[in-house]
Amino acid sequence: MSQKPEDLFKNIISHSKEYGFIFQSSEIYDGLSAVYDYGQLGAELKKNIRDYWWKAMVQLHENIVGIDAAIFMHPTTWKASGHVDAFNDPLIDNKDSKKRYRADVLIEDHVAKIEDKIKKEVEKAAKRFENFDETMFRATNGRVKEYQDKIDAINLRFKTALNDNNLEEVKQIIVDLEIVCPISGSRNWTDVRQFNLMFSTSMGSVSEDANTIYLRPETAQGIFVNYLNVQKTGRMKIPFGIAQTGKAFRNEIVARQFIFRMREFEQMEMQFFVKPGTEMEWYEYWKKARLNWHLSLGMGKEKYRYHDHLKLAHYANAACDIEHEFPFGFKELEGIHSRTDFDLKQHEQFSGKKLQYFDPELNQSYVPYVVETSVGLDRLFLSILSSALKEEVLEGGETRTLLSLPPALAPYKAAVFPLIKRDGLPELAEKIMNQLKFDYNITYDEKDAVGRRYRRQDAIGTPYCITVDHQSLEDNTVTVRHRDSMQQDRIRIEDLNAFLDERVSLKSLLKSIV
Ligand code: ATP
Repeated sequence: MSQKPEDLFKNIISHSKEYGFIFQSSEIYDGLSAVYDYGQLGAELKKNIRDYWWKAMVQLHENIVGIDAAIFMHPTTWKASGHVDAFNDPLIDNKDSKKRYRADVLIEDHVAKIEDKIKKEVEKAAKRFENFDETMFRATNGRVKEYQDKIDAINLRFKTALNDNNLEEVKQIIVDLEIVCPISGSRNWTDVRQFNLMFSTSMGSVSEDANTIYLRPETAQGIFVNYLNVQKTGRMKIPFGIAQTGKAFRNEIVARQFIFRMREFEQMEMQFFVKPGTEMEWYEYWKKARLNWHLSLGMGKEKYRYHDHLKLAHYANAACDIEHEFPFGFKELEGIHSRTDFDLKQHEQFSGKKLQYFDPELNQSYVPYVVETSVGLDRLFLSILSSALKEEVLEGGETRTLLSLPPALAPYKAAVFPLIKRDGLPELAEKIMNQLKFDYNITYDEKDAVGRRYRRQDAIGTPYCITVDHQSLEDNTVTVRHRDSMQQDRIRIEDLNAFLDERVSLKSLLKSIV
């Protein structure tokens, strides 16, 4: 049963709380805005996603290694990287509702609405004509062309304004497009201002300016400042990569989309160091490889698309996002950036230390170029959860809530049930738990009728339910019920490990991407 996107989003939030995936941080004190805690099942799912990313990057690539740098870094790091001066978002307030918005997001949302109109026209035409060719239709249909021209004009104007850092023009675009505040409905806007997103604190007991340090707004800089340490001690040869997962902090202006935009979040980044001049090849390579990784999760190809950046960051010579269709539309999930030698050169300059690589093949030293892949773990979590959560109508009209997570990522790989609580069935179930627990996270449930236990496991994404019944005592077999098809098989207890290994291990996912 398909749900309206806004209902689906509300369901995801309440489902996350009800089943122990995600809680508002410090909820008993009414929460802290845009900060969330992962509960008992959320922590498992998040860890499994992180493990899959890590293994896909580090274990499957001989030339990629992983590190774990500290959150606090020398403050000069952020001067060198450009974050102190330029890690800003343009903000605008509505004077009536007193709500604050990102000016760029208001414009992007306006463009998305026009895109929706095109989508609707295309869908209408597809219903009318057989052998419908969308490209031809886009080129020939007057109304659609008009919409597309509008989008192109807005994008061009917006891009120019951003590149010129012309905040007055950004405001003028909002005024000209007659964008209203969704809360007050008014167009009573303040001027657009830049707002630095870094959180700062002070180190040591004396609070002086000199002691100001920042909570890292990205994990990448921890990799750059360690690049030579890793290259030398790991005897790495270019091209090679350094991967890292860890917390990042941004004082986001607008933080109203659950774990999509948080003030404390986790990133999974990989910096790939290459010979200057080869960066575009690697940029294309990583664009494909990363999309392929997302597709391996089985959420559907139509849920992903590339989006080239309108405005390149100060460090990039090419950049694109892999966007995912969230319940509130297509939004950035991962960024692939060709960062040139900007960061390493800046760190050379600010630290006075050489960060060059001696290329034995060329017999020459150079500062490598960098291609980066950067994905938010929490955003990825949300993309997976929102694609997996479904309300299914079964034969007979009953509905079931199903979380069709990729089996390898599910918090529990299997649930073990004794059919009833006596006759030695719980004891045998416990034996099975002990047999499986060294390989997998398994859960046990003996409460309520089996049907209700199935429903509970469906709602948290457990791929297999193993039921121990009286026959099990006689022939050492159990019923294994599949989450998605609800089909049941009789399987020998001694074969259970191999059965699960084939279906729920990360190995199967990893094999699908090589
Ligand atoms: P956005 O345009 O959505 O603010 P960004 O372009 O600033 O994102 P990057 O700096 O490229 O994001 O960060 C890389 C990835 O980190 C993003 O693709 C996203 O998945 C994740 N990310 C960034 N900011 C947040 C946040 N506030 N909360 C959760 N994840 C985030």
